[in-house]
Amino acid sequence: MPEKEIALYAHLMDLPTHMAECPHASEAYRGEIQELLLELEENHPGTRHSIMAGYEELAALAAQRYRDDGTGADLTDCERCGSTTSGDVCRKCRLLEAL
Ligand SMILES: [Zn+2]
Repeated sequence: MPEKEIALYAHLMDLPTHMAECPHASEAYRGEIQELLLELEENHPGTRHSIMAGYEELAALAAQRYRDDGTGADLTDCERCGSTTSGDVCRKCRLLEAL
């Protein structure tokens, strides 16, 4: 039974309760994500690596964009697909080329 329903019931029945959500809800959520990732990794080896690689790519782009004056002057459009990139050709296109 969802805890919100219990809280609602307690409220309707005028029972003393605190309505706050379980303080561990976000931890439970994290655990769920972790389990999901482990399962994905098991079924599709390399999933975690590609997720991390994606994060690193985003972090690098963000760092570059907000460095110095924050205008992102170093970034250009990929000459193949038009994505924002730091070089002439974006990483995705270079990866596709390497395949
Ligand atoms: Zn591209």
